[in-house]
Amino acid sequence: MSRPRPTLDVLMRIFGVLAAISVGTSLLPAEGTKASAVAYLISLILSMLFLGTACVRIARTQRGPWLWLMLTLSLALAGETWLKILQLSDPYQWPTPADFFYAATYVPMLIAVLTLERRRGARQQFGALLDAFIVAGSVGVLTLVFLVLPLISDTSEPLLGRLVGSAFPLFDVMITFITARILLSPQGRSRSIWILTGGLVVLIVADNLQNILTATTGGNGFPRWVNLMWLTTYFSFGLAAATFRSAPDSRPQERTAAGLTVPRLAVLSLAAVLPAAVQVFLEVRGNDTGDTYGLPLGIGSIALFALVTLRIWDLLQELHRQAEQLAEVARTDPLTGLANRRSWDFELDRAFATSKAGGTQLLVALLDLDHFKKYNDGHGHQAGDDLLQQAAVAWKAALGTDGVLARWGGEEFAALLHCSDRDAGTDHLDRLRLVVPHQQTCSIGIAHWDGTENPARLLQRADEVLYQAKSGGRNRSILASGPQPDHLERPVRIPAPRTAPEAQSGASVGSTAGGTTL
Ligand code: GH3
Ligand code: MG
Ligand code: MG
Repeated sequence: MSRPRPTLDVLMRIFGVLAAISVGTSLLPAEGTKASAVAYLISLILSMLFLGTACVRIARTQRGPWLWLMLTLSLALAGETWLKILQLSDPYQWPTPADFFYAATYVPMLIAVLTLERRRGARQQFGALLDAFIVAGSVGVLTLVFLVLPLISDTSEPLLGRLVGSAFPLFDVMITFITARILLSPQGRSRSIWILTGGLVVLIVADNLQNILTATTGGNGFPRWVNLMWLTTYFSFGLAAATFRSAPDSRPQERTAAGLTVPRLAVLSLAAVLPAAVQVFLEVRGNDTGDTYGLPLGIGSIALFALVTLRIWDLLQELHRQAEQLAEVARTDPLTGLANRRSWDFELDRAFATSKAGGTQLLVALLDLDHFKKYNDGHGHQAGDDLLQQAAVAWKAALGTDGVLARWGGEEFAALLHCSDRDAGTDHLDRLRLVVPHQQTCSIGIAHWDGTENPARLLQRADEVLYQAKSGGRNRSILASGPQPDHLERPVRIPAPRTAPEAQSGASVGSTAGGTTL
């Protein structure tokens, strides 16, 4: 918004109220009288003043579309004034210059709404765009069949008249498309956009009623309530400008599964089936007018069917994408991007099968950062998160392609490693202690799969020796003895050197009850 201008605000409000009153009372004078023509013109002029003063309040950079709407009203005023003059002087000859002005109103109106829609920053969603095409396509087919084609082929009318007459319904189809685009986009709508869209809907209804009346009765007069609807639309432009806020709409975007709700599906189905339903209706009723509606209605139905098919295809793509994202989320730890526990269970089962089939050795390890709580307390939770992420990267790289690393939970991780030699594999896993970032340490419990035990038992053995590594002083790895006690063959090893201060204090060497310290 530009800087506040109290006088302008007051003026705008006055014009707004006066315009509302004059639109509301525009039907009071008897139809066809000079008074009713004057009432119409006054309403239109007041709506222009309302829009004009509202426009000045809008920041210069945002004013463009509203100025286009101002031009729309100016052209309507020019057309209306001309028409009123003509109506006073018979004979009325179609098309009149007034009709050119009327037809011209649609061009700046389309530019205005398109610009607003673009600035609204509506997410370019192919599905929503298709929806607007389906709705406008349905209206378009009916417009073409019942309004445009009969008019164009009516050689009794002058060519210019036929062209101008066809322009109105075609412009209406374009307005319908943009309106549907605004209403069907997943983006939230500001109050200003709602008002403007409401005005456009009223315009579309009024225009179509007028077009149908002209086509069926051939009359050129505008019924009073159609006039009232047009005035309502003009007033809505001013109201939309008055409620316009330059700040972007910050409301969260609504998001439904692939953007297809039940009401939307109902609208689309109705739109898609409408031309075919009209065709059936005409057949049942018996087409005695001699007009051949069947072919264009049939072609229109096929085109709509193609659009609906495209929409279903797009929906399937979207569902497919979402399913993949969900599967990814379900198997990944969000912080480290590693496999999560669910995914780990799957990997372990797979590793059992691979180990059996390939005759390789399989080791599992549980890794737990030492004194991580202290690290969190001393450096902050964010630093703790960073350490978890960096440790995950370092361990993954050190583990190599023969291993799988997963986040077991909290600051505990699980690793599995395929190897040809158990001792070499154990050393490989032990070396994971050396890559923990920021001078931190970890303890590791390792268990060798005997080829028969189940995952729970294998992990339990790893967990038991991890506990021993902790209670034995931390910063060490312990290899669990086999499921049967006599499996213990591995010699006692000295822990790999480590410089972290706490590592020095508690490192112990020796055989423990359930395993072998490395
Ligand atoms: P120990 O050497 O015995 O393993 O001690 P510890 O402090 O590492 O273990 P403890 O179980 O006492 O504390 C684990 C801490 O890990 C507590 C918890 O706040 C922290 N933690 C768990 N998950 C996360 C996480 O995702 N981010 C961060 N920053 N901290 C976490
Ligand atoms: Mg810990
Ligand atoms: Mg722990």
